[in-house]
Amino acid sequence: MSTIFTKIINGEIPSYKIAEDDDFYAFLDINPNAVGHTLCVPKKEVDRLLDLDEETYQGLMAFSRKVGLAIEAAISCNRVGMTVIGLEVPHVHVHLIPLNGMQDATFQHKVSLSPEEFTAIAEKIRAKIQ
Ligand code: 5GP
Repeated sequence: MSTIFTKIINGEIPSYKIAEDDDFYAFLDINPNAVGHTLCVPKKEVDRLLDLDEETYQGLMAFSRKVGLAIEAAISCNRVGMTVIGLEVPHVHVHLIPLNGMQDATFQHKVSLSPEEFTAIAEKIRAKIQ
């Protein structure tokens, strides 16, 4: 059975898309730690980060860097943090989180956003993708 992220990549479940290429897809996290919290996912369905083949791993990091630079340009923050957890969704994803303090990195402090706010944030980040 496909993971929820494969369904998002295939457009079966909607997402606030940030970027896409042949191998990777980025979209806003639906339950963000902070405004601009984004997930970068390989289209290849693999559960654990360290099980990715070398090329996909390096490609995911390069794609995440590109998306992270766009987030930094679009969202006011001290810096963009990167973390990989994967305890909830068994499909590798890099969390890119705009950080202003440690609370933004804990996954215990969440931000509630309306669909209009998600749409506006995604547009702002997309506009900064190089
Ligand atoms: P992890 O697997 O790294 O612990 O966390 C999974 C992340 O995916 C969570 O931050 C959660 O909010 C996010 N997430 C889970 N389901 C969906 C979904 O259907 N859409 C989006 N945009 N994010 C999701």
